[in-house]
Amino acid sequence: MGEILPKTGLVLGVVGAGAMGRGIAQVAATGGMKVLLIDSRPEAVADAKQHIEKMLLRAAEKGAMDAAKAREAIALVEPLNSLNGLAGCHLVIEAIAEDLALKQDLFAQLESIVSDDCILASNTSSLSITTIASKCRRPQRVVGFHFFNPVPLMKLVEVIDGLRTLPCVGDALMDVGRRMGREPVRVKDAPGFLVNQVGRAYTLESAHLVAEGIATFAEVDAVMRDAAGFRMGPFELLDLVGLDVNHPATQAIYRQFYDEPRYRPSVLMQSRVDAGLLGRKTKAGFYEYDESKETAAASPKPPSGDISVPVWVSPAEPDAARKLIALTNQLGVRVETGDKPSDKALCLVTPIGDDATQCAVEQGLDAGRVVAVDTLFDLQKRRTIMSTPVTQTQYLEAAKTLLSQDGVAVTVTRDSPGFIAQRIVAMIVNIGSSVAQLRTASASDIDKAVKLGLGYPHGPLAFGDALGASTILKILKNMQRRYGDPRYRPTLWLARRAELGAPLTLQD
Ligand code: NAD
Repeated sequence: MGEILPKTGLVLGVVGAGAMGRGIAQVAATGGMKVLLIDSRPEAVADAKQHIEKMLLRAAEKGAMDAAKAREAIALVEPLNSLNGLAGCHLVIEAIAEDLALKQDLFAQLESIVSDDCILASNTSSLSITTIASKCRRPQRVVGFHFFNPVPLMKLVEVIDGLRTLPCVGDALMDVGRRMGREPVRVKDAPGFLVNQVGRAYTLESAHLVAEGIATFAEVDAVMRDAAGFRMGPFELLDLVGLDVNHPATQAIYRQFYDEPRYRPSVLMQSRVDAGLLGRKTKAGFYEYDESKETAAASPKPPSGDISVPVWVSPAEPDAARKLIALTNQLGVRVETGDKPSDKALCLVTPIGDDATQCAVEQGLDAGRVVAVDTLFDLQKRRTIMSTPVTQTQYLEAAKTLLSQDGVAVTVTRDSPGFIAQRIVAMIVNIGSSVAQLRTASASDIDKAVKLGLGYPHGPLAFGDALGASTILKILKNMQRRYGDPRYRPTLWLARRAELGAPLTLQD
């Protein structure tokens, strides 16, 4: 292939003028590229052109863009009514329906129209770039260019190298992405590419723990927002995306990884899809969105436990115990010191990936008095506690009352290895580590892509470093031991770095 794309006068074809195609055309024109836009439905092109015009003029009105620049960009978008018009393009991006045969057909047609040097890019979100390219005469010019919706607002774009893609093709798209004002990351072809793969952990682990009866949807959302710092809870996010979109994507990624347990779908999702509880689009998902229906907000019962009971904090996890003792001091509660609790004391344990029952049994405590407190996350907005199946109500109530004395909300769950936030975040870190281990992307691109594409408080590897790689390793090992499920096995990327005290962000 020749020296790849011109610095000026680049002509771009966009096939498919739907939600994604029009967004791609808009950012390309804003970046000074001439855009030829085509769709099998001519009205879609006219509609897209109008939409782009409206968006750019509005940006100019708001002062977000120079008015002359907006007019220039609008003039750069040219509707086409025949694929033959793409003959002079340097690059064609397809954003047509998500159907392998359709995309392969389109690329075969394009190969008979464009020059041999023209790059063919697909905006597919779930199909393999290598498979799309496999029917092409020149698979080395086929590449993934995966934008996020809505394109003008989402800065991230994944540049995906298929197995036979020439490296200079991906390099050229990294440059085009920047010229479009995007933040490109480089990804090897893999199921779910980068962002959609890591994104599975948040929603799937949440669904698994709700299916197990550990907590409700709303409780999981509240903990992930208030304690773990996510902008949206996993079930709020699922309602926004729609289960009809999320669940098939999960199934595809699971199957494409030959039933990798980390991506195992939850039966909860399928039954909710069957029931039509898709989310905001059906006005009912994990939450109700029908404004005509009044939903009475449940007023929380004020905790009424007896806090005159003596309190003992287990020293089994020294760092966690110190954090809990600092909190009890802040709440004005003196705790017993000593290796063993006194006869009637409330026994607070601070597991890392264990459940309350296991702590009680392994530490030789009276399980009827054991309550576990999650100390790994921010304790100032919400606290999570859990009991064993035999913890006496008076002790659970005492713990709840004690920990909510300063008005901070307390979420009480059933026994769970890794509470709510520990297990969900550990899975995010582990899947991020798996993406790094498989060399799908560099450590820095993984973190950048997840922050930009999913809006998490940290990228998965930086999240692991913030909580401690050895802590994440411990959560996963304990969960694997407790559940006996290979779903929780830690990746070697994570284990090696944790064992060596090296950061997860360290690229080797
Ligand atoms: P869309 O339905 O909004 O638009 C698709 C457009 O393609 C339609 O206007 C349709 O008329 C046209 N089209 C279909 N077949 C065609 C063909 N053979 N030739 C020309 N035009 C054809 O879909 P979308 O949401 O814009 O998605 C497009 C692609 O982008 C899909 O591959 C999808 O997986 C991917 N994607 C979507 C999102 C998203 O959130 N919507 C995000 C990333 C990637």
